Formats: sequence, C-alpha cells, structure tokens
Amino acid sequence: MSYLSIQNVSKIYPRKKTKALQDFSLTVEKGEFITIVGPSGSGKSTLLNILTGFEEPTTGSIILAEQDITKSAPKDRDMALVFQEYALFPHMTVAENITFGMKIRKTAKKKRQEKLDWVTSELGLTEVVNVLPKNLSGGQRQRVSLARAIVRNPKLFLMDEPLSNLDAKLRDQVGDLILTTHKKLQATTLFVTHSQEEAMSLADRIIVLKDGVIQQIGTPHEIYEKP
Ligand code: ADP
Ligand code: ADP
Repeated sequence: MSYLSIQNVSKIYPRKKTKALQDFSLTVEKGEFITIVGPSGSGKSTLLNILTGFEEPTTGSIILAEQDITKSAPKDRDMALVFQEYALFPHMTVAENITFGMKIRKTAKKKRQEKLDWVTSELGLTEVVNVLPKNLSGGQRQRVSLARAIVRNPKLFLMDEPLSNLDAKLRDQVGDLILTTHKKLQATTLFVTHSQEEAMSLADRIIVLKDGVIQQIGTPHEIYEKP
C-alpha cells in the first residue's frame, strides 16, 4: 500500500462543464518529493484544492496513510500548505506566527519553545524571532511560512508556487532549504509550480500536467534529458 494514493480523480466544474482534472492517478511513497508542473489552467490548483478539501472531486479516491481523506473534513486532513502569499498574521511576531498552531492544539509550552528554537535555527530565523512580518524580507517571510508548516509535523506537505514571489537568488536559497528540511524530516511533499527549472531541480519525480491530464511522470532525468 502506497503512502499516498490518488486514484482516478476528476473534477468537472459544473457552470461551463470545465474538465479541470481528468482521471488523475498518482501513488507516492513516504519521503518522496514530487513536483507537479504545468502552465496556467492545467489543473494544479484544482488538485491542491481537492487534496486540502476546499473542493470535492467529481469522482475518484484519495488515500493518505491508509485513511480515505475524501471522507474527512479539511481540518482533519493532516496536511500543511505553503503558498505564494505568505499569509502570516501581521500583528504577530515571527515566534507567535510559528507557534500559533501549536498553541491552538494545546502543545505544552516547553515543547513549543523547543520546536521554535529548533525550526528557527534550521531555517536561519533566530535573529528575527521577535520581529513583525512587515519588517521581514520576502525570503524571510517565506521561511516563516515554511517553519509554521514544519512544526505541525504533517503527514503531507503541499507547496503551491512557494518560490514564485522571490528573486532568482532567494529562489535558490529557499528552494535549497525546502529540500534540506524535506530530507531531514523524511517528509512527503507535493510541490506545484509552473517553472520547469524548479520542478527539475527539486523533484524525485515530476508530473507534467496539461489541460487537466497527466502528460508524463518520471524522474527529472527521464523527463528532460534528451537521449
Ligand atoms: P492552474 O492552477 O494550473 O492554473 P486551475 O486548477 O486553476 O489550473 O484551473 C484548471 C481549469 O479549471 C481552468 O480551465 C480554470 O479556468 C478552471 N477552474 C478553476 N477553478 C474553477 C472554478 N472555481 N470554477 C470554474 N472553473 C474553474
Ligand atoms: P509530535 O509529538 O508533534 O509528533 P515530535 O516531537 O515527534 O512531534 O517531533 C517531530 C517534529 O518536531 C518534526 O516534524 C519537526 O517539526 C520537529 N522537530 C524535528 N526535530 C526536532 C528537534 N531536534 N527538536 C525540536 N523539534 C524537532
């Protein structure tokens, strides 16, 4: 049994009968880093929305860690989402932003502090723990979003174009951090992007999506290296 199994998922938006996703099937092993690459309108957001529970699939099933998640409410799906707009709480410091979720779940104060210390040191945020988001750089903000996802210890990380708002140099830095922490945590990650270059540099396997249909699945080598 695979860790994540997406079977024959389709999504038809009723108004214009748009087939946003057609018969999408993918199995993912624990620890894999999967990138889903495709142009605008190819169905990437639809897939993420179905995984998080924001949208219901028209047909198909999704099993995560032996649980049929299409039957669970969004809040009961054990996933963390990192996206392009950092969505930090503007009135909270970096530390408060990172530990907020743990506070809600009533994690003990000592453990919250341990995780905060660990994650801020891993992601190079120790200098800014008491700073408000508006006083951070774009790269720092994205690292805070990443830290917030990491401390949740989710079964699945979903990343929606997390590098797209960053300049080239920061894209490389934050991309490296994402990959390093993914490996260290032995996490399972689905990373969505329109950039072939990102898909190529990060992935164990790449899914190429167009018009809601998988065109290719393979390692970066299999997909982009010409024989
Ligand atoms: P991507 O994220 O790759 O840009 P989307 O999943 O947003 O692709 O879109 C896939 C297709 O579904 C597009 O044709 C888009 O217009 C359509 N679509 C997306 N969301 C909706 C919606 N809420 N209602 C109707 N059509 C939608
Ligand atoms: P939980 O009890 O919530 O499952 P764990 O104590 O098992 O959490 O730790 C797993 C998570 O803790 C990791 O996903 C990461 O967020 C964070 N973590 C990993 N290593 C450390 C560490 N050395 N110190 C503190 N937190 C860590």
